[in-house]
Amino acid sequence: MNHRLLIATNNQGKVRELQEILSDLHVELVTPTQIGLTLEVEEDGFTYEENAAKKALAFAHASRLIALADDSGLEVDALDGAPGLHSARYSPKTGATDADRRAYLLEKLTGKPHPWTARFHATIAVATPEGEVQFAEGNCPGEVIPEERGSGGFGYDPIFFLPELGRTMAELPAAEKNRLSHRARAAQAARPILARLFEE
Ligand code: IMP
Repeated sequence: MNHRLLIATNNQGKVRELQEILSDLHVELVTPTQIGLTLEVEEDGFTYEENAAKKALAFAHASRLIALADDSGLEVDALDGAPGLHSARYSPKTGATDADRRAYLLEKLTGKPHPWTARFHATIAVATPEGEVQFAEGNCPGEVIPEERGSGGFGYDPIFFLPELGRTMAELPAAEKNRLSHRARAAQAARPILARLFEE
């Protein structure tokens, strides 16, 4: 058995976090760049599971390695769960940046009563080159706030506030985000799946 796990994403924020979150596993974590794999997977599914499975399977198939993909998003109650599955593409601008998406979200929330309760969700899919897929998920509740705070993390982190810590996700040290985030919780739930696959 090959003891390498491919982090099946081109999102550098996710790569960084998953590498840290999974660093104590007894497997070698590799990224698409490290193995010279360039692959763009269209995220056209209707659920987090569909998109995560599509990414994990495509990367596992192309690399012949076990691959772990994460499909995630920010669900805001006042927007009926939007941007959710579409968080990565939530802006009418072409070539939009994370900052553009945050600004667009705040524009959509303007005038809605506070607090803007929300949660980050992550679904992890682990796929084998033979086409077997298993899932794990995690959530992290909080609130969207109207001003940016902090410079850590990525995506919506500067406007995602954790009331019990009194800080945004972008104000947390990386190690702390990687203990309590939706991605950390999903990865925790994925550990038994990985343990089984790598023991076989
Ligand atoms: P996807 O999983 O590739 O569809 O992208 C998920 C999108 O959700 C990211 O591009 C971010 O905009 C947002 N997102 C997911 N996880 C996080 C996080 O930990 N912090 C901030 N934004 C996130």
